Amino acid sequence: MKTFDTAIIGGGASGLMAAAQLCRAGRSVLLLEGADRVGKKLLSTGAGRCNLSNASVDAGDYRGGERLPDWFFQKYTPERIEAEFRSLGLLVRRDHEGRIYPYSLRANTVLDLLRRHTQTAETVCSCEAVRVRKEGGVFFIDSADGRVFSAQKLILACGGAASAQLSSGKTGYSLAQSLGHRVTPLSPSLCAVEVPPREVRALAGIRCRAKVSLLSDEKEIAYESGEVQFTARALSGICVFNLSRFAKPAMVLSLDLMPEYSAAEIEALLPRGEEARNLFEGILHPRLALEALKKCGISLSASDAENRAARAVKDFRFEITGLDSMKNAQVTAGGVPISEIDLSSMESKVEKNLYLTGEILDIDGICGGYNLHFAWSTALCAAEAILGSLEGGVPA
Ligand SMILES: Cc1cc2nc3c(=O)[nH]c(=O)nc-3n(C[C@H](O)[C@H](O)[C@H](O)COP(=O)(O)OP(=O)(O)OC[C@H]3O[C@@H](n4cnc5c(N)ncnc54)[C@H](O)[C@@H]3O)c2cc1C
Repeated sequence: MKTFDTAIIGGGASGLMAAAQLCRAGRSVLLLEGADRVGKKLLSTGAGRCNLSNASVDAGDYRGGERLPDWFFQKYTPERIEAEFRSLGLLVRRDHEGRIYPYSLRANTVLDLLRRHTQTAETVCSCEAVRVRKEGGVFFIDSADGRVFSAQKLILACGGAASAQLSSGKTGYSLAQSLGHRVTPLSPSLCAVEVPPREVRALAGIRCRAKVSLLSDEKEIAYESGEVQFTARALSGICVFNLSRFAKPAMVLSLDLMPEYSAAEIEALLPRGEEARNLFEGILHPRLALEALKKCGISLSASDAENRAARAVKDFRFEITGLDSMKNAQVTAGGVPISEIDLSSMESKVEKNLYLTGEILDIDGICGGYNLHFAWSTALCAAEAILGSLEGGVPA
């Protein structure tokens, strides 16, 4: 049996990037992917356009049990990621909000390039790794169909539990545990926030811009601004996705539908003596205004409701009943704690020559290219460390 320099379990974003770096340096790489092809999830990212990084990235854009040190993103800046992709042949573009995409605006372009640069790797698809053991300093990997592979170094790039239909499942966590790592509780992140259906049914399909505050016991614990989308049972949209990380049942989402104006300014804008139902004509989506007024107990036929109506649209509340399922979430909160990893190399502090990259770690970013940025960064970090340690070591 051939013993590879490096085996990578997971042919997703971070696994492919690590493989590309190692292949370019001429190392022998085994890439195991449980799904029938590599990069399935990558193709769905950014609605098929692959929002691969962001012009402004720092540790504050990420959550997890422990905070990433600032130096990590001083080393792996957006410029560094752009340069790495440029060296693979990819041209990128930035949109007006700093989100970085392939110039082609096609996730396929990114995947095609990564596949081309991993051609010298032994890539085995439909091959789920179910067990890893280390004997005599060598990793032995058992696959679900009974094959056994071996390598000097191992990268666990198995991703998370979110949107498992786009990957081969969440066995990565049990592999990490079997090698001595802990896994913190997993929950969906970057997902819709569920509210009582009777409160949103009439609004389903509406999109509006708002400032959204997350309230716990009447205290604002986080807020975001942007487009809110209403479904028949939930609030969605990027700003809600970002708040989902902190949202819990019984907390409240309060929408300010006119954040640019104070309540007094709104009151001054409203026509005098009109029935409440007509006050926001020409200002807000009619159904949205009506529901906000009803929520505050304002009679739609009242003709003296300007003051209360102005306050109602600045504090349109929804009680949170839960989060959308892991299946519909973009990322996983929780995972292997970063305190168990040497972040200068992504090498495990628990098991020598084991490296962990991407979403399997207890780090999740906000919407806007941050999760892929983390996947590429950790992959580059692991590949650099492996190349450094293999120099003059194991033959290619
Ligand atoms: C719909 C959607 C859209 C998204 N859009 C964006 C976006 O635009 N920008 C952004 O930054 N982030 C986005 N994300 C998040 C981003 O895709 C992930 O955070 C990122 O792909 C994580 O990279 P990874 O390498 O850790 O894992 P993945 O890319 O998920 O790859 C893990 C791979 O490992 C394989 N695998 C798992 N276990 C095993 C095993 N035991 N044996 C063999 N193979 C295994 C899986 O099949 C998978 O192919 C999106 C996520 C989703 C679901």
